[in-house]
Order: sequence, then C-alpha cells, then structure tokens
Amino acid sequence: MFMKKRIVLMLVLSLFFTGAGFAGFLETPHLASGLQIRPDNRYFDVLPRIVPADQESTVSFVPLFDHVKFTDNAIYELTYTPMEFEPVKGGPVGGTKTVIIPENGRISITMLFEEEQEHDFILNKTVDGKTTQAGRFRIYSLKPDLYGMRPYKGDFHQHSHRSDGVESPPYVAGICRRAGLDFTALSDHHFRGGSIEARDFYNGLPIDLRLYPGEECHFPGNPVHILSFGAEQGLTELWKNDQAACDREIAEIQAALTDLPAGVNPFHYAACVWETRKIAEFNGMSMFCHPYWVTGNRYNVDERLMDHIFSTGIFDAYEVISGFDWNSLNSLDVNGIQVARYVEECAKGRRMPVCGIGDTHGHERSDQFGRYYTLVLAPSSDLQDLIAGIKGFRSVAVETPKGELARAYGPFRIVKYATYLLREVLPQHDELCFEEGRLMIQYASGDTSAVDRLALLQGQVARFYDKVYSPAK
Ligand SMILES: [Zn+2]
Ligand SMILES: [Zn+2]
Repeated sequence: MFMKKRIVLMLVLSLFFTGAGFAGFLETPHLASGLQIRPDNRYFDVLPRIVPADQESTVSFVPLFDHVKFTDNAIYELTYTPMEFEPVKGGPVGGTKTVIIPENGRISITMLFEEEQEHDFILNKTVDGKTTQAGRFRIYSLKPDLYGMRPYKGDFHQHSHRSDGVESPPYVAGICRRAGLDFTALSDHHFRGGSIEARDFYNGLPIDLRLYPGEECHFPGNPVHILSFGAEQGLTELWKNDQAACDREIAEIQAALTDLPAGVNPFHYAACVWETRKIAEFNGMSMFCHPYWVTGNRYNVDERLMDHIFSTGIFDAYEVISGFDWNSLNSLDVNGIQVARYVEECAKGRRMPVCGIGDTHGHERSDQFGRYYTLVLAPSSDLQDLIAGIKGFRSVAVETPKGELARAYGPFRIVKYATYLLREVLPQHDELCFEEGRLMIQYASGDTSAVDRLALLQGQVARFYDKVYSPAK
C-alpha cells in the first residue's frame, strides 16, 4: 500500500515537473531545426538585437504582453556585461548597473557598443524590497563588413523521388521551408531535373524560399560524389549528350597530370578536376560530398586521393557536416572525422569553405531533417550572393543532433556570430517559416486557396530582420 502511494506520488510529481508551465522548465514548441525560442525573446521585442560595432546605439526592451509589462510601483535596474572585450573607448564596463525608468511602456538604453561581440543585459525589478529578474537580453555588435549581411539557411544536398528519395520535388521544397530554410536545391543523383521541377512549380508564387538548381554527380568509374549547386547546365545532361567529348576532355586532363603522388588514381582525380571545372564554367558551386561516407565496408574515397584533392583545393566547398543515415554502423563517426579533417587542413594553412547538409532521402519520415544545414552570411539570398558568401568563408556548417544544442563549424569569427544567431534570432526565424512551408505543401497537393494565404505571409522574415537589425547610422 505504502509503495503504491509512493508510485502515485512520483507519477504526479513527474507530470508536474515535465509538464508545460512549470516555471523552471518552460517548454517551447518543437521546431524541425531543433532550435528553441528563449521565452524572453517571445515576451519582449528587443529593438534592435544587432547593432554596429564601435558606435553608439539605442536599444529598447519592449514588453509585448500583460504578464511582462513594466509597472509604476517597480524599480528597474539593468546590469550590463560585454561578453569578450572590456571597454576602452568609453562604453560601460562589465557589471555596470543602471536604474532605468520605463518611458512609453519600454526601457531604453543608449551606449557605445565596443568591438564585435555579444553583450549581456540582465533586467531586474524590485517591488516592495523584493528583487526578481524581469528579463535577460543579448545584443550583438558587428563590424561593418558583416553588418550589412543577413543570415540565410540552406540545404542543397537532398533527394526527391526523381532519384532515390521519397517525396516529389514540390513537396520537398515545401518541407524545406517548413523546416526553416531560406534557400534550397534538390540534388538528385545524376539528375538536375528534380531541382528545376521544384523551382518551376512555385515560379511566380508569393513565397520567400529561394529554389536553385542542383545535382549530385558520381560519374562512371569515379567514386567521388560531387555536388553541383546553382549551375546553369547539368553535368549529367552534358555527359549524356556527348559522352565521347566528355571522355576526351577528361583524358586530356589526365594526360597533362604531372607529379601525381603515388597511389592516386589518375582517372579519378582527372574526372574530379573536369567536373569541378565544368560546374565553374556553368556558374555553379562544386562541393565535395560526404568525404568520409562509409559504403561497402570502407570509406568511399581512397585516402591518397583524398589527400591530393585537399592539397590541390579543386573544390569550391567541402561538406563538413552531413545528416544522413544515422542508424547505420559508422554513420556517427562521419561528422567527427570530417570536422577533424577540416581542422587539420586549416592548420596546414588551407582555408576551406564549409557546408552542412542533410542528404535526406525521405524528408517526412526523417527526424533528422532540418537539423543539418549551411548558414551563409550574404547581402541577399540571390544565388551568386550565396555562392560568394560560401566561397568567401562567410558560411558555417550547422548540426543540432536530437537532444543537443546547435553547433556551428567553420571560421572562428563566423562561428561566434552564428552561435548567437542560433540562440537569439534563428529560432523565431524558423517558426515564421513553418506556416509558409505548410501552405506550400497544401498548394502542392492541389489546393490553390493556399496562394492567398501565402501572399499574406510573404516578406515576414524580412520584416522580422528589420526589427533585429538597426538602421546604420
Ligand atoms: Zn552521395
Ligand atoms: Zn546524396
């Protein structure tokens, strides 16, 4: 009897502690990206969240709901701490406390935000001698070269039912937006048509997702999987149209190879060079797909060829994070090894543009889709801006394995900023994308009434970013 009572009590307690609404364990809705919206970022507008570095800016904290509104009987005190650099140019030092009287329902502070870094603000309120935290806010100050850029999330390595995936190209496009992507490309095996089908299907519709051409090439005799992103022409088409000419060009490249290290297969390397050159010729970006993919009980690419590919740097970008096939042996090793390789190459002085992608073959059935992507800082989501952003070392590869926090890999400066964005900005971005993606799928099912509702949503991410970034002074 006693035991029974205890079990019931434990059940009640566990429900209480895991249930929504318990103050310490606020639950946020599940986002496909695995990101979580901090409650304070829901309760308050922070105008702006991102400011220019080394300039004076005014930041306002605006309560949006009755339960957080500022009251006359409270004293509000803001504690400021710069996360990296103690000020030397006249900004407030770490731990500075300022009593602020709300005006027009908001609390505002004007100060110099020194250096490129994150800034922490804790807002305490005291009522009848009792002090509690009213909110905690994070601001990021950016140097001018990045300040004019916006973050764009994309996945351009994924498959539809036009190759060995599950869903149709328009369906995949919808689910990409639903998962919080700003740009995407299908990369069906040996087939650029899937990506074109998705792009053309939504052509002229009021959507903000950008759809680009893509294709995953693995030509006969060459084990290396090569992704063509954004190219104006398909490599497979080229190959099919005039195989003899392609063979001849590869043979010419092979014949001209000198000092090939021992053990490097000359044809494999020459075929890689030919493919990457063609992709460049067609104004696309070539990416070395899943370098440490395990297939047939071994890594797909011989390590000597791998060494030579890295030392010659023939690819525009490198897939450092892959989100595929998590249930198979070795799959968990892949990202760790790819990251180690990236770090090793950087240590040798070889900078490499990085990408993260899902390589998803069945989006709806995958509980990993949306957690692996590339984050690019670019002036717009136009194709050539994105490619220039990746090639210009302004991208990071992101992974958010289930139950873990998001991690970004790439250049240190971009990783630091991306870490802020992944915590403070992108969760709400992802939530905004959800409805657009849902309506795209509805439209793909034949329901044209979705178009009117899509038109209402168009531009909402841009409007959100208008609030996040202050106007330049
Ligand atoms: Zn592949
Ligand atoms: Zn693939």
